[in-house]
Amino acid sequence: MSKDYYKILGVDKGANKDEIKKAFRKLAHEHHPDKKTGNEEKFKEINEAFQILGDDTKRAQYDQYGSDFEQQGGFGGGMNWNDFMRQARSSGDFGGFSAQGGSAWGGDGIDLGDIFGDIFGGGGRRSSRQAKGSDIQVSVELEFREAIFGIEKEIRLTKNNACDVCSGSGAEPGSGTETCSECRGQGQVKRVQQTILGAMQTVVTCQRCQGAGQIPKKVCKHCNGKGVTRTESKYKVKIPAGIADGEMIRLTGKGESAGVGSVAGDLYVRVHVRSEKGYERQGFDIFTEINISYPQAVLGDKVEIETLEGKKKLIIPEATTSGQKFKLKALGVPRLQRSGRGDQYVTVIIDVPKKVDRKTKKLLEDLKDML
Ligand SMILES: [Zn+2]
Ligand SMILES: [Zn+2]
Repeated sequence: MSKDYYKILGVDKGANKDEIKKAFRKLAHEHHPDKKTGNEEKFKEINEAFQILGDDTKRAQYDQYGSDFEQQGGFGGGMNWNDFMRQARSSGDFGGFSAQGGSAWGGDGIDLGDIFGDIFGGGGRRSSRQAKGSDIQVSVELEFREAIFGIEKEIRLTKNNACDVCSGSGAEPGSGTETCSECRGQGQVKRVQQTILGAMQTVVTCQRCQGAGQIPKKVCKHCNGKGVTRTESKYKVKIPAGIADGEMIRLTGKGESAGVGSVAGDLYVRVHVRSEKGYERQGFDIFTEINISYPQAVLGDKVEIETLEGKKKLIIPEATTSGQKFKLKALGVPRLQRSGRGDQYVTVIIDVPKKVDRKTKKLLEDLKDML
């Protein structure tokens, strides 16, 4: 069910950011649910389209994969109204994927608060801090080579998610909303506190509407208006090539939902990498060993060795000593979120026979006398 976000916003595929912003602004005003001409479904659709096309990274992903693409921050099926409203009210924290030690993603957040200032409450940007759901950490077990070459893993977990009937709004679908009487739609209320320095006035988030300024006319029966239900979630997580044991991948907004008006926590996926016999990894380099005989060490030879890319030939030069290391360039681990690979180091071990027959013993004794 790929959606044509360009068509929804009525812009062509080559439209620039300003044109998209303009088109969105016009349509959002026209269809805002609080207006006479409002249409909530249409409004959501417009928002969803802008959410993607207004963000360079997401737009590029959309152009490439279509709206069904669900990974890292998620949209299409994964983007829900609650997530959207949260992002609309806070100032565009598009974290997305970020592996520890790198920041190839995230960053280019556009300020939705800016655009929404005149739609929500008219009072400009909201600065109130929203409640945030808990972060969750899960572990995923990887085979040695899965971590080296990257893989996609599916993660399933049961957690508090935005109610799928009301999309986390807590309102019975179709019932509409009304302005919160507690804060008169401001989302914030003034509190006067008596302190030793006298009366101090603070502005706090309205408890009744959780800062939304709007409350549902009827609460959602499915979640009793909490906006959250406990359900199973499934995520496909792309494990990047070169990840190391203990490193984490963050899925922004995929943690616990804390209900209406809150920000969902993040989901951290910690990788645990199994070892593989014969291979040792240090950073992006791979260490292996090769056993050769004394004559091979003295005379030199061409031997077969194991690498991550299969069997390869290694030339043992004449007069190789035990413990000598040979470097095989770029046969190590791909560098995480960078180009290139580490190297493979092969350490030579000269085998000493445990038992020798009489003939060999004689030969060796002659050899000893010669050296
Ligand atoms: Zn609900
Ligand atoms: Zn209120």
